[in-house]
Amino acid sequence: MSKLNSTNSATSSDFIRNIIAEDIKANKNDGKVVTRFPPEPNGYLHIGHAKSICLNFGIATENNGICNLRFDDTNPSKEDVEYVESIKSDIKWLGFDWNNRLFYTSDYFEQLYRFAVQLINKGKAYVCDLSAGEIRKHRGTLTESGKESPYRNRSVEKNLNLFERMRAGEFEDGFCVLRAKIDMSAPNLIMRDPALYRIRRVYHHRTGYNWCIYPMYDFSHCLSDSIEGITHSICTLEFENNRSLYDWLLDELEMECHPQQIEFARLNLSYTVLSKRKLVELVEKGHVNGWDDPRMPTLSGLRRRGYTPESIRNFCDRIGVAKRDSMVDMAMLEYCVREDLNKRAPRVMAVLRPIKVIIDNYPEDLVEELDAINNPEDPGMGTRKVPFSRVLYIEQEDFREDPPRKFYRLAPGREVRLRYAYFITCVEVVKDEHTGEIIELHCTYDHRTKGGDSPDGRKVKATLHWVSAAHSIEAEVRLYDHLFTTVNPGDKKEAEDFKDWLNPNSLEILTSCRVEPSLTGAAQESRYQFERLGYFCVDSSDNKLVFNRTVTLRDTWAKIQKAQKKR
Ligand code: ATP
Ligand code: MG
Repeated sequence: MSKLNSTNSATSSDFIRNIIAEDIKANKNDGKVVTRFPPEPNGYLHIGHAKSICLNFGIATENNGICNLRFDDTNPSKEDVEYVESIKSDIKWLGFDWNNRLFYTSDYFEQLYRFAVQLINKGKAYVCDLSAGEIRKHRGTLTESGKESPYRNRSVEKNLNLFERMRAGEFEDGFCVLRAKIDMSAPNLIMRDPALYRIRRVYHHRTGYNWCIYPMYDFSHCLSDSIEGITHSICTLEFENNRSLYDWLLDELEMECHPQQIEFARLNLSYTVLSKRKLVELVEKGHVNGWDDPRMPTLSGLRRRGYTPESIRNFCDRIGVAKRDSMVDMAMLEYCVREDLNKRAPRVMAVLRPIKVIIDNYPEDLVEELDAINNPEDPGMGTRKVPFSRVLYIEQEDFREDPPRKFYRLAPGREVRLRYAYFITCVEVVKDEHTGEIIELHCTYDHRTKGGDSPDGRKVKATLHWVSAAHSIEAEVRLYDHLFTTVNPGDKKEAEDFKDWLNPNSLEILTSCRVEPSLTGAAQESRYQFERLGYFCVDSSDNKLVFNRTVTLRDTWAKIQKAQKKR
């Protein structure tokens, strides 16, 4: 495996870490660092969230600080406890711990309400009866200033009264909103009297029907950060324009704690989508088999696919943190798991598409237990015994009746090595009379080649994996390919549907694979390298033995790197 220039290691820095280092040096926030990861519980976490988790928890740890987990649960119609639970378990799996600092924005609803009242009292917020469509029309454009709402100059008393009645449920959903009174001709459109509260009669998974008004993200987020004493509020670039409002609200409310919002570029990954709205759609419309479908870019999907937390953390470290949006090649993520599993995954032999091989000159009732190495990268992992007998299976594609040039594997009259076993030579091909399909191969073995060593310097050009027919066990193997056939399915024009680019061949199921007997009872989620085939992980949902292919052994990332260097 070629060596990569790792752009970022745990010790290297980025612009956010530089800002924080400067702050600590200047003793800002008394030198303290408090971050938070603020997911909305409206879907499962994906690899993009992992980037944010590694960043927020990582920065806290590196600076003896703390990182809170806060559920940003202000949009109850799309949220669910199932998501809350999955998010908690995915963060733990990834290797991070919020200890006792688990918070919910909904815990602050009463406090947030009082902040809103405070703004009204200051003449900085008003109840507006314009419809959503009218508000949009009044907003203006980048080149045209907005129009003030006719309700903008309601008295403080009137606003206090109306807001109280909003809370009390006197008005229908959408009848009015609470808006900040800022500047309808502000160059930044976000500052043109943004909505702070709206009326929504929906059940909330924590507060039930206690509330029929819910705070908007921009209002609740900065205040929740401030309430928790966050020092650095790290978010993705799309919130860059919202920073003005973040700061305006904290200033107007004279909050003691005024966190600094810092934006970074979100992760985009090739051949997949990282938008929760799109992922929800794939799940709900049945294009995948649930959130943890091994083709999904979710943490639970990657986990089921066989990814290790270490490989994902390493990936997040490598991609680094930047201020400009970019697309990361899926091959890099695959490189990271391959690198990790290469060190840890025991090697075993498995035959995915079996063809029977009979060793004519091998005693019929003999079974030899041959020594096999568990991991050549790690001698400490020891050896195991693999049974060898007269009837074996090898991979169909390792035999060709009419081998083309450069095909060095088994063919009539040709000798190859069976890994850890013997040299064998193919002497006969038996076919189905009617279909012409190959049923079995007859071979002879050279007993002097035991262990796969040549007794006389004789060379063979191929080494094949195999299993003993009688001793191997049956397994199902699921092969995965990219979920989409195009590099950036999320970036298609509005009129197009990202689902049009779903890869119809993203899942191939092989039901009559044969694996060596050491895999009997293999634990769910245990990971192996099937020699010559790739890395595989025992599926965590089935009673029968099912393996998910994590990645093949081909390192496409190294190839991409090499090509880039040449350019
Ligand atoms: P979506 O836009 O798909 O709905 P989201 O960003 O709204 O996702 P949240 O639950 O709000 O999802 O995200 C929690 C945190 O994770 C936020 O701080 C967000 O900025 C960050 N995050 C989400 N997606 C990515 C990504 N692709 N790369 C990096 N960070 C991300
Ligand atoms: Mg969000």
